[in-house]
Amino acid sequence: MLLGLTDVVSRLYELDCSSLRITASRCSPLRHRASRCNRCVAACPAQALSRSAESLDIDAVRCVGCGACSTVCPSGAIEVGKPANHQLARIMEQSAAGRVVVFACNHTAAPYPSAEQLAISVPCLARVDESLIVAAAASGATGIFLDESACSTCSHKAVLAIARESVASANAILSAWSSVPQACLTALDNPAPVAAKRAQSAASPVTRRTFFRALRGEACATAASALAGSAQNNASAQPLAGGVHAHPREVPARHQLLIECLHRLGPSTAGGAYTFLNDRVRIGGECTGCHACVDFCSTGALIVCRDGDLQAVAHQPARCTRCHLCEDICHQAMQSGALSLLHSGTIEESISRDPEILITRQVQASHGETHDRPWGGLEALLDTSLDTYNAAAE
Ligand code: SF4
Ligand code: SF4
Repeated sequence: MLLGLTDVVSRLYELDCSSLRITASRCSPLRHRASRCNRCVAACPAQALSRSAESLDIDAVRCVGCGACSTVCPSGAIEVGKPANHQLARIMEQSAAGRVVVFACNHTAAPYPSAEQLAISVPCLARVDESLIVAAAASGATGIFLDESACSTCSHKAVLAIARESVASANAILSAWSSVPQACLTALDNPAPVAAKRAQSAASPVTRRTFFRALRGEACATAASALAGSAQNNASAQPLAGGVHAHPREVPARHQLLIECLHRLGPSTAGGAYTFLNDRVRIGGECTGCHACVDFCSTGALIVCRDGDLQAVAHQPARCTRCHLCEDICHQAMQSGALSLLHSGTIEESISRDPEILITRQVQASHGETHDRPWGGLEALLDTSLDTYNAAAE
């Protein structure tokens, strides 16, 4: 039987999305045993993930490729392969302006894409995280829908709860911008009326052919690896131990995408609701200066800086994924409890690339004493990747 173009693209997505990339050295409990994170294991609808003190393993036979584990992982330790978030974001950047973006899984039989709707095919709605929803908004979408019309009959529909959480979280973030649409998880049995309601939007010149042409580059690039899908999964099934310093500190790609898209939205126009991004690291006077938080942070959000005989711990909010590893270490391993993630500030402050000084301390002359001398500047950053990140972000 000959497959249609839609079937071929869907199959390529299905095959390729089932490959998950695991970077064990980013996993919080593998970096430090004080971490309480177990989100991926709890989220998996197929009990395909298992974690020990040394490794994070995925059973390729059980894995249904929904991507829920990747969505809930704050550290980028589990990432969905092609199409990665930045590839889907690029399609939206090229084609979403003035159109309704509909995220739909391959089991959804809906009459799109159309000139007024851009369909983004995902293996499962649980694969849609905040960064993809915010990317749609930043690309000028006039509406954002997650089509759950096929979910009621799906064998792993339990992960719809993950999609709901992502929608709620993304909407809380987007509520700080009054002019952008919010996402909606709904059954679009017939998405045509949705497009009709958006008739005031300028008709996009992007056609079905253009849509698939945009996909074609990504799909062709993934074809070879899709054919070798089972080999990739077998590789992922091997225990992947990793030393804490085996990899450089880096910001997960989807967190970078989220921050970039929020900057593209410009200054916020409304107060906004509470979001996880508003959790900011704070260090109190109980700090012993052990710097364990800095040493184990996987993103390099926490850094040590020096200014003469003053030493400071600084935090760069845009790099922080709010994984809470630093808090767990400080509370459980170091028993200091000096560090907490507390809700504070505006969304702009929460995504700022400027480091903020959390605590200063005079070294040499009176070690251990906090100091209120005005901070003169950020010298001798211990994490040089901070410069690289800032340069890339500009
Ligand atoms: S950091 Fe990510 S991979 Fe590690 S336990 Fe938490 S959710 Fe799972
Ligand atoms: S600063 Fe703390 S919460 Fe933020 S990424 Fe680093 S370890 Fe995680």
